[in-house]
Amino acid sequence: MSDTAERLRRDITVLNEQTLDRIRAAASISDVDAIRRDVLGRSGRLPAIRREIGALPAEDRRVVGAALHEAQTLITGDLDARQRHLLDTEPALPRPLDVTLPGLPVGPGRLHPTTQLMYDLNDAFAALNFEVYESPEVSSELVEFDELNFPADHPARESMDTFWLAGAEGRRGADRLCLRPHLTGASLHYMREHEPPFRLAYPGRVYRNESTDPRHERAFFQYEVLLVDEDVPLSAARFLVDTILDTVFGRPVRTRMRTGFFPFVEPGFEIDMECQVCAGRGCRTCRHVGWLEVMPGGSPHPNVLRAGGLDPDRWTGCYLNVGLDRLVMMRYGIDDVRLMHAADLRFLTQFA
Ligand SMILES: [Zn+2]
Repeated sequence: MSDTAERLRRDITVLNEQTLDRIRAAASISDVDAIRRDVLGRSGRLPAIRREIGALPAEDRRVVGAALHEAQTLITGDLDARQRHLLDTEPALPRPLDVTLPGLPVGPGRLHPTTQLMYDLNDAFAALNFEVYESPEVSSELVEFDELNFPADHPARESMDTFWLAGAEGRRGADRLCLRPHLTGASLHYMREHEPPFRLAYPGRVYRNESTDPRHERAFFQYEVLLVDEDVPLSAARFLVDTILDTVFGRPVRTRMRTGFFPFVEPGFEIDMECQVCAGRGCRTCRHVGWLEVMPGGSPHPNVLRAGGLDPDRWTGCYLNVGLDRLVMMRYGIDDVRLMHAADLRFLTQFA
C-alpha cells in the first residue's frame, strides 16, 4: 500500500473518532447541523478525502474507499440518532410557558361602511313599503341588454366593458352569460313574478371591465329602486332622492337634476349632488367640478315594461339607481373608491 494510501486511512480513522466524539457531545439540533455541514457537507472533510482517493492506484482505491464508506455510514447513523434523541428531549418552547401572560386582544367586528349604508337604505325604504329584493349576480345578455332596450351595437355589450363568462364566445341572448353590469336586470325578474302596483329596492354588487382609478372599481355596489303604478309622475324621483339623501346625510344636500339618456328609460334624468368631500369647491373625487353624478334614473321604457310582461299603456314607473360606494365616500368624505374594497383594517375600523 502506498504512503498516500496509508496516510488517508489514518486520516479516516482520526476523522471518524473525532466526529463520533463531537456527536456524543452535541447538545442541540443546531450543533448536529453544524457537524453534518462540517464533515459531510460539499466542502466538508469527508468529501475532501474522497477527492484524494480518486488519484490512488486501483488496489489502494478499493481498500481506502471501503474504509471511507464505513466511516460515512457510522457518522451518518450517529448524526441521525443524535438528532432524533434531541428532538425527543428538547423542549418545544424556548422558555417555560407562562399561562398568566395576557393573550392577543380580539376586538369586536363591525360592518363595512358600504354594507352599513345598504342596511340603512333598506330600513328607510322598507318603512315606505318597498320590498327589498335580490337577484343573481350571474346574468345574461338577454336580461341585461336585449330586454333593457340596449341597441344591438351598444358598446357596453363588448368584452371591454362587460365580464362575459368563459364559454359565452359566439353565443347570443340567454346563452351569453355575464356578470351583471348593472342591477336593472333584477327589476325584469321582479316584474315577471309580480302584479303592479309595486315598489321595490334591490341592492347588490355589479361588475365592469374597466381600469381602476380614484373614481372607478371593477366590482362595486349599487342600490336601485323602482316603483310601478298607474300615473307615476317624474317628480316621484325627487321623493326617492330625498329619501336616500336624508338617510345618508341626515341633513339637506344640494342636488341638481339634468336630462340623461339611458336605453332602459324614457325620459331619463341624472341627479348630481354637491361634492361632500370638498363642499363644492372642487377636488379629485369630483374632478374639480364640485358636483358628482350619483343617481341616474327615469321612467321605464315601454319596451322594458313589455319585456317584464306589463302593459305600457297602463303602467308607468320610476327607476332610480345609486352608486352606493360613491355615496359612502360622500357620507364620510373619502376621496378614493379603491379604499372601499382594499380590506385594509386601518381604514375600515374608522367607521364605528
Ligand atoms: Zn369634490
